Amino acid sequence: MRIHQCLFNAASFRRVFDFGEREVANWFPGHMAKGLKQMREYLRKVDCIIEVHDARIPFSGRNPLFQENLDVRPNLLILNKMDLADTTKKQSILKRLEREGVKNVLFTDCLKQRDENVKNVVPYVTKLIESGPRYHREDDRSYCLMVIGVPNVGKSSLINAIRRTYLKKGKASKVGGEPGITKAILTKIQVCDRPVIHLLDTPGVLPPKIESIETGMKLGLCGTILDHLVGEDIIADYLLFSLNRQDRFGYVEKYDLEGPCDDIQHVLKCIAVKLGKTKRMTAITGVGNITVKVPDYAAAAYDFIRAFRKGELGKVLLD
Ligand code: GDP
Repeated sequence: MRIHQCLFNAASFRRVFDFGEREVANWFPGHMAKGLKQMREYLRKVDCIIEVHDARIPFSGRNPLFQENLDVRPNLLILNKMDLADTTKKQSILKRLEREGVKNVLFTDCLKQRDENVKNVVPYVTKLIESGPRYHREDDRSYCLMVIGVPNVGKSSLINAIRRTYLKKGKASKVGGEPGITKAILTKIQVCDRPVIHLLDTPGVLPPKIESIETGMKLGLCGTILDHLVGEDIIADYLLFSLNRQDRFGYVEKYDLEGPCDDIQHVLKCIAVKLGKTKRMTAITGVGNITVKVPDYAAAAYDFIRAFRKGELGKVLLD
């Protein structure tokens, strides 16, 4: 019986996720190629590159094209959305990144009104630039930084947060909930006046080929790839798998389940029931057609994924 598989039997939960024959559709629209070309052209005016990535996936999904094309200036990696990430293993994350050649790393939460880490970005990059071999401008203390990253990791939010912190000014860069909103325009925005710092907001650029289906799934879960390119049903299942693997059982209480469960169909059914998400279907019976109400699994999957992205199901580390 399915219900027995589900309840309180965490020891028998999946240890590996079966991706079957699935593949992530690769998505590298024209505006991303154009954006990357523009970024390369701008490079010589740039003093430092800030790469923003999602703190829930500190090792996967960063675009190798950035390293190949833009890795010529001092670099800072910002792991943003730390409010959604489990950072208890922060030290081992930093050590592994250092082994991979990434030495300058800051964690941020750009939605927080006064994030100390956001405040640290300016002194950090100023020090990086001024201690670099290319720095020989005694008088002109104005810097141009380029902010890069895959879509939806918070590049615009970071720019707005630094601006809010240092200039006490409102939003200058448009923030979006869907990946790919900052299109192929490089916008130059002043964020600080002592020293004068301009940031270039860039379009999110995904790798033309995502390295593995699992990386694609993590990027999808974090909202970096349009959901339909991965499939909401499988994102929801991978989410359940990831939450269970990390003993994050907040979904049990949120959706009134009987206990932790590894069966996505059962979980989605409970979510649909709890949220009243049903749809009508016509069933053909021996005595004619009848209309029945069935759980709307797609609507439930949508809610489950959105709840996770808002942090309502607990903090995670997907790598
Ligand atoms: P961009 O496409 O990389 O420029 O990303 P945006 O700045 O447009 O942000 C994408 C989404 O992530 C928006 O819904 C933001 O509100 C949200 N976001 C940005 N930074 C943070 C953060 O630190 N924490 C959380 N929880 N959400 C964030």
